[in-house]
Amino acid sequence: MSISSNIKQLQASIPEGVTLVAVSKFHPVEALQEAYAAGQRVFGENKAQELLLKQEVMPKDIQWHFIGHLQSNKVKTIAPFIHTIHSIDSAKLLQEVDKQAARFNRTIRVLLQIYIAREDTKFGLSFEECIELLESGLIADCKHVEVCGLMGMATNTDNETQICDEFAKLNTFFKTVKASYFSNQDSFREISMGMSHDYKLAIAEGSTMIRVGSSIFGERSY
Ligand SMILES: *Cc1c(COP(=O)(O)O)cnc(C)c1O
Repeated sequence: MSISSNIKQLQASIPEGVTLVAVSKFHPVEALQEAYAAGQRVFGENKAQELLLKQEVMPKDIQWHFIGHLQSNKVKTIAPFIHTIHSIDSAKLLQEVDKQAARFNRTIRVLLQIYIAREDTKFGLSFEECIELLESGLIADCKHVEVCGLMGMATNTDNETQICDEFAKLNTFFKTVKASYFSNQDSFREISMGMSHDYKLAIAEGSTMIRVGSSIFGERSY
């Protein structure tokens, strides 16, 4: 299957209201151009350097999403153009995004990354740490970030019951957070969950944003 037919099939199969983030990390610009020609405008990358190179040569109407662990010292390089950062996992990173967005007179959309997997390799805030961050009042001081929701990654397993359980927990937590801290903020509405092997389960559990790489672009060679 070609990149273009993969994109078209995915776009046709996902429900309205679910955004497809095409995760193009490790793939060459030509692959992104094929996806773009098929109508894809939302792309996800997880390395600042690689993102910068691609952003320079790709059309300007693309929404670039940052989906991986982001070091504070890299924020300034992507702040001029980044649309959404899915991976806010500390107060320090949130403050740095706010500071850099202010320098460029922009508002950057962010998601708080929540740790939901039963693995110790993934980044993210625990439910408790997320509540702590929300209780700290810091977000109200960050005038140049818009907190639009939560992101999470399920355990990398074939056990679908476990994956669904983890996604369901994130959805429940999202509802609690929305009710307690963002009840009058319409833009707090995103749950970014689901990758190539589990996006169907994620949609069933309430995902509003799926981050799909290999099912579109093929396997990555690292
Ligand atoms: C690489 C990556 C994806 C896409 O993974 P695939 O299995 O290729 O769909 C999604 N989310 C994050 C955070 C990633 O790093």
